[in-house]
Amino acid sequence: MSAPAAFTGTAEVTHHIAGKPCPGRGDRTLDVFNPATGAIARQVRLANEADVTEAVAAAKAAFPGWAETPPIRRARVLQQFLTLLHEHKDRLAAMITAEHGKVFSDAQGEVARGIDIVEFACGAPQLLKSAFTEQVATGIDNWTLRQPLGVVTGITPFNFPVMVPMWMFPLALACGNTFVLKPSERDPSPSVLLAELLRQAGLPDGVFNVVQGDRLAVDALLQHPEVAAISFVGSTPVARHVHETGARHGKRVQALGGAKNHLVVMPDADLELAVDALIGAAYGSAGERCMAISVAVLVGDRADAVVAKLAARVRDLKIGNGMVPESEMGPIVTAQARDRIAGYIAQGVAEGAHLLVDGRDRAGSGREGGFFLGGSLFDHATPAMHIYREEIFGPVLVCVRVRDFAAALELINTHEFGNGAVCFTSDGHIAREFGRRVQAGMVGINVPIPVPMAWHGFGGWKSSLFGDLHAYGEDGIRFYTRQKSIMQRWPASIGKGAEFALPTPG
Ligand code: NAD
Repeated sequence: MSAPAAFTGTAEVTHHIAGKPCPGRGDRTLDVFNPATGAIARQVRLANEADVTEAVAAAKAAFPGWAETPPIRRARVLQQFLTLLHEHKDRLAAMITAEHGKVFSDAQGEVARGIDIVEFACGAPQLLKSAFTEQVATGIDNWTLRQPLGVVTGITPFNFPVMVPMWMFPLALACGNTFVLKPSERDPSPSVLLAELLRQAGLPDGVFNVVQGDRLAVDALLQHPEVAAISFVGSTPVARHVHETGARHGKRVQALGGAKNHLVVMPDADLELAVDALIGAAYGSAGERCMAISVAVLVGDRADAVVAKLAARVRDLKIGNGMVPESEMGPIVTAQARDRIAGYIAQGVAEGAHLLVDGRDRAGSGREGGFFLGGSLFDHATPAMHIYREEIFGPVLVCVRVRDFAAALELINTHEFGNGAVCFTSDGHIAREFGRRVQAGMVGINVPIPVPMAWHGFGGWKSSLFGDLHAYGEDGIRFYTRQKSIMQRWPASIGKGAEFALPTPG
């Protein structure tokens, strides 16, 4: 396979407001790294309050026209965007690899999963079709509308710089809202290309805006009186802050947080299938996925066999620059993140877990300079340990051994997080019980990363989601619209005089 073209563009990443690039008024910038080399690749502008105000004002000005645009015409713009996304999908994927580090094929997968949501949003006329009841009372009809909210905002994490924004804005725009995206400051370049493609697709100026920035921009958006709703995806402490602050300022909020996803291997599971699943789901994207498997729950007497196979495979992982087709795992996003993960590995050893493969030993040799870390594997971890309780968000798999299925379920259900949970088994009854009883928002049975498709919606339970509605799917439509019920009667049935009792169907 020949190597894809690497992304090398632009010295500075700026905001995109009212249909054009905008340097902003703030004088703060941040270095954006190529994690595979450790070199500073470019700078990103960091918005101040005035920049946020300008972006929200552009979105507010564009709202009446876009909200009045018939859904089918909004959908046509999204169709055109879809065509452009297909043309530019490898360019977007190369940008992801250049700033995030994940391997190019994985970045291509990310773009493809984002495209799925745009396809779903292209069904806007059908998705916004409302319910109608003829003759709820004599001569009266009642129907329900779903109308856009106004200016809505998306605040997104570094680990999916294309897919997670596309969980949000295609549906928000399809519903008639205007949008301000605040992408992660670690990998900001794809957001600007997305804005440019939307412009080329015919989206009116101001309907989609991007402000680059950090917590200052986030806090300005959370408090801005013209922002009606906030979609957030990121770590749990920030999700909690966004949910509480946004709600205090009267906004609708959905805030998706961190995870610690467990994969249960039952004694009757297909061993090869389960090990393949664990390797891909724990070490793919260097574990920097909210649906990564970070805990293997090994049930009964097959644990030794699973661990032996896992250790051999982890030692064999091909680690390197994500643009090299042979690489299975790229670098960690930043030097700080790499050091945080290495700190967890040291803590796991100090707490008494058995470190079978130490990724810190496998970081160098030809990869000096980049933020590399090998895969790590712990066995005999316990629920009291930090490496079990906390989200490490790196290529570290922690094995916990339990006696039976009930103990496995109890372990998962008492954990703080409830994003995804998976069970590998060949027993239909166990599979059914797991699906019904596990306390998690997304469940896999013999499927390692059960990320729901565009029309099903994505979201966790417990500390993995604050707010009521999941991202995209039908919940996405509900989140980006508000319901209005209209009851109507025409003069022929009027004239009975005032009615003082609550009307009941006649
Ligand atoms: P993060 O919480 O550090 O940052 C997310 C966003 O919040 C960024 O745009 C960032 O600029 C902003 N931010 C950071 N600190 C802030 C603060 N103190 N105040 C206000 N805003 C702040 O997350 P990250 O490191 O970019 O992403 C990794 C995290 O995201 C992991 O915890 C992962 O599990 C989670 N994640 C969750 C999902 C999900 O669907 N549940 C999906 C992807 C990632």
